[in-house]
Amino acid sequence: MRSADVVIIGGGIVGSSVAYHLTASGCKDVLVIERESSQGKGSTGKSMGGVRAQFSTPVNIQMSLYSIPFYATFDDRLGYPCGYRPQGYLFCATSEQHMSYLRANHATQLKLGLKHARIISADEIRSMFPQLRADDIVGGALCSTDGFVDPYSAMCGFMQWAHDHGAEIWKQTEVTGIDRDAEGVCRVQTTRGSVGTRTIVNCAGPWAASIVWMVDVELPVEPLRRMLVPSEPFDQFPRSAPMIIDMSNGFHFRPEALGFLLAWNDPQETPGYKTDFDPAFTEKILTRAAHRVPIFENLAVNPKRAWAGMYEMSPDHHAILGPVPDVPGFFLANGFSGHGVMHSPATGKIVSDLVLSGTTDLIDPSLLNLARFAEGRMIEETAIL
Ligand SMILES: Cc1cc2nc3c(=O)[nH]c(=O)nc-3n(C[C@H](O)[C@H](O)[C@H](O)COP(=O)(O)OP(=O)(O)OC[C@H]3O[C@@H](n4cnc5c(N)ncnc54)[C@H](O)[C@@H]3O)c2cc1C
Repeated sequence: MRSADVVIIGGGIVGSSVAYHLTASGCKDVLVIERESSQGKGSTGKSMGGVRAQFSTPVNIQMSLYSIPFYATFDDRLGYPCGYRPQGYLFCATSEQHMSYLRANHATQLKLGLKHARIISADEIRSMFPQLRADDIVGGALCSTDGFVDPYSAMCGFMQWAHDHGAEIWKQTEVTGIDRDAEGVCRVQTTRGSVGTRTIVNCAGPWAASIVWMVDVELPVEPLRRMLVPSEPFDQFPRSAPMIIDMSNGFHFRPEALGFLLAWNDPQETPGYKTDFDPAFTEKILTRAAHRVPIFENLAVNPKRAWAGMYEMSPDHHAILGPVPDVPGFFLANGFSGHGVMHSPATGKIVSDLVLSGTTDLIDPSLLNLARFAEGRMIEETAIL
């Protein structure tokens, strides 16, 4: 029977970052188990690739303050590209309520040391992007180090580096069960045989709850479909633009290749394992796009190139990281609620620290542990897109 010091379940960007951070910290025997024949077929390959530090809660800001500089130096550290483009995130407020919200968030971000975020005036937004319909924009917030990465490249870079330094990945192998003994977890059952281990990290993205259920514990993470629509080439809006968010309805877009990638979270979406693209979504999103950017009336889209993936939602829209209470050796890296790409570097570091030493100085780990739900310590993040 194969054994491993640590078994990571799921080879998406989170499992890959955990594998990298464990290996980089000297853990020699890391085995990643991935059900699919190649990596990236879960949420990671469907992501919009946005990275930002403009959150409302200190812990999410702290996660970004580790992750974004990590992405900025990823190519040098790992020797593989992650495609980080610091083009910014621009939140456009259309009410005074939005502005007070952005100001409060900005104050928290400044206090925690984020240097590149600022509140900007409506006039500045108008002069930067005269193509926006701005008669109702009252101001906004911009952070120049926010931007985009290529999630697939980053995932491959993490895993390749870990592999180069001793980690192993089993693809096309499904985890089917987890065994325990008096000490805690002791074995992972897979379609390729069983693996003896005293440490398991659950990185199964939207499927995370089914893995935790293998030890009869409930994990409050559920999948929620999100759809993205890429445009055909379009040269009437600057390709150097940031992610632009219309706070009146949540529509947001960013440059992608020669066109733009359009996103909007339909409030009517319901939880479930849905990954089919609903053609009716095209009309809904184009209406919102043309409302904010009138020249997007001319934006051509091919619905066949649009796609859907799943967010992995937690009840308070924060990640769930760290040990499963009463199941020694079982760790979680789940529930990112749509922020798993941007927070994967910090997650890898935090979880690796917790596995290897039981603590971390990156955040107060109790803030994100599973026990917070039973103990009534939820911390709501409202700046979700
Ligand atoms: C449309 C869309 C847009 C998004 N935009 C952004 C964004 O702009 N920025 C951002 O930060 N995040 C974004 N996200 C969220 C982000 O993609 C996820 O949070 C992140 O990819 C989660 O990574 P993961 O590794 O945890 O999960 P996944 O990538 O889903 O990986 C989990 C892996 O576990 C494997 N697995 C599951 N069960 C088993 C099993 N039993 N045995 C073995 N393997 C198993 C799966 O095959 C999968 O490969 C977006 C998501 C979507 C859908």
